[in-house]
Amino acid sequence: STLENIRNFCIIAHIDHGKSTLADRLLDATHAVAERDRMDQILDTMDIERERGITIKAQAVRVLYPREDGEYNLNLIDTPGHVDFAYEVSRAIAACEGALLVVDASQGIQAQTLANLYLAMEHDLEIIPILNKIDLPMADVPAATEELVELLGVDPDDIIKISAKTGQGVPEVLDAIVDRVPHPETTEEETRGLVFDSYYDPYRGVVSLVRLVDGELKKGDEVKAMRADERFELLEVGCYSPKPTALPSLRAGEVGYVIAGLKDIEALRVGDTVTRVAQPAEKALPGYAQALPTVFSGLYPTEGDDFERLRDALSKLQLNDASLFFEPENSKMGFGFRCGFLGLLHMEIVQERLEREFDLDLIASSPSARYEVVMEDEVRIVTNPSDLPEAYLEIREPVVRATLIGPKEYVGQVMSLCHERRGVQVGMEYISSRRVQLTYDLPLAEIITDFFDALKSRTKGYASFDYDFKGYEVSDLVKVEVIVSGDIVDALSIIVHRDKAYYRGRALVEKLKELIPRQQFEVPIQAAMGKRVIARETVRAYRKDVIAKCYGGDITRKRKLLEKQKAGKRRMKQVGSVEIPQEAFLAALKL
Ligand code: GDP
Ligand code: MG
Repeated sequence: STLENIRNFCIIAHIDHGKSTLADRLLDATHAVAERDRMDQILDTMDIERERGITIKAQAVRVLYPREDGEYNLNLIDTPGHVDFAYEVSRAIAACEGALLVVDASQGIQAQTLANLYLAMEHDLEIIPILNKIDLPMADVPAATEELVELLGVDPDDIIKISAKTGQGVPEVLDAIVDRVPHPETTEEETRGLVFDSYYDPYRGVVSLVRLVDGELKKGDEVKAMRADERFELLEVGCYSPKPTALPSLRAGEVGYVIAGLKDIEALRVGDTVTRVAQPAEKALPGYAQALPTVFSGLYPTEGDDFERLRDALSKLQLNDASLFFEPENSKMGFGFRCGFLGLLHMEIVQERLEREFDLDLIASSPSARYEVVMEDEVRIVTNPSDLPEAYLEIREPVVRATLIGPKEYVGQVMSLCHERRGVQVGMEYISSRRVQLTYDLPLAEIITDFFDALKSRTKGYASFDYDFKGYEVSDLVKVEVIVSGDIVDALSIIVHRDKAYYRGRALVEKLKELIPRQQFEVPIQAAMGKRVIARETVRAYRKDVIAKCYGGDITRKRKLLEKQKAGKRRMKQVGSVEIPQEAFLAALKL
């Protein structure tokens, strides 16, 4: 295909507005998938994505679209919508010339609609606005149109109205991609390909997704990763359509994969530029800014001797998830890794992927933000509450700028929630006659708890929210430690604002009392600020064997109980003399 017949585009939207479903329809319309292989959200290939119904990884698929004026080669990149995965979106966007901005006509513009739109605009992508779910009785096409016209300054006729469920309007989307998205351009003779994603395949080695900006890559080429300054031979090049399909070559403007079969997974990282050794490019393409982890937690194998396996798994996962940060850590929990994530959902997904894809059993310690602690002679970075020094000049916490969108009836509710969470209002505007956008500065620590759940419940699910890192601000913070059976359990410690320390310490201890199972002895649980105990509860010793309760009962019930105990056990960690379950370490998030 020639450059003029290639279109590279992504689909961006707020979560659940129908990106993956539209991707399915585009594949259907171009007959990319055989009837027997069809399924919903076909591009959500990971088990976790299918079970949770969310997209975590961006996917790149090539389809052929024949029209009267020629055959077009469309490269579609489906992206995740959740704020924790914005980094995936920004990388996908850099590989495209256009974006389908999908908005659910029954919901209107939401916080991640804006966040993703701004990313696409920063990269000068052509935006094609699409109203989806027009089949729904609740769809309010005029209201959603008004919002999009206001936001984008487009002609209402340029907004395509579709149902990704029924397929209505999908042919118009295909034509708009061809007619409105600019074809890629190339300027250099020498080969340059931007690596925008990578993963480790146990059979094939490192597989990298590449947007060829200039030149050509063929199987057997000797190539070089320009930043890493590593050379290797290409074992295969190809594209997903949607199954991996080997091709003779990848050319300028195209999106596809290259397999280098590397053992050294450090050699070809996301953001690097591949060029040919025979005729190397002079300058690498601009890479990506490093993602900044915001949430930190210790990950520990429940079996002590799995430490090296965990290290290996983290390195492999990091290849597929460049935002993941980790370094070894040693605590009362044993040997593990302090890991940095882009949010709590990201943390949950990483833990789950490590357990499933690498067959590990892990415990995560209580999550923490990243703090700057100003000492006499240095600024110390603290990502683990137990590392907070006793004396310091001041402590700074991360603050985010949050965008909250909801119907105007709920403005008061949203404001009071933000106020309780130490928020400072920055702005308020109407995005249509009925819906309002609020802007707040909020301490990150206040939103990585149950902020999102609280927002949803106070606005009956109508408000959405997104945020961007803003900076560090001085705050009056203290450490609350948890003492279980006389031992400080550092993995349960939290850093909180002084005004909330007493309340949170008390709530945490009450919660832990419910979550820590009875042991053969009494387990006192205390919360302390410095030397001062601020709350105390006791988990009583158990008296009877659980099995004794089913004495004489039927055997399946006994077995079920045993299995339940076993499943529960996997998620426990022995700390000192007490077994503490995973939920206890996450209790501080839901007080
Ligand atoms: P994504 O998070 O943006 O990828 O959204 P999905 O494609 O996973 O869709 C979220 C939900 O909306 C799924 O249950 C879809 O079946 C549903 N959905 C998507 N498009 C439509 C549509 O046009 N009409 C209706 N009624 N439901 C839709
Ligand atoms: Mg999706």
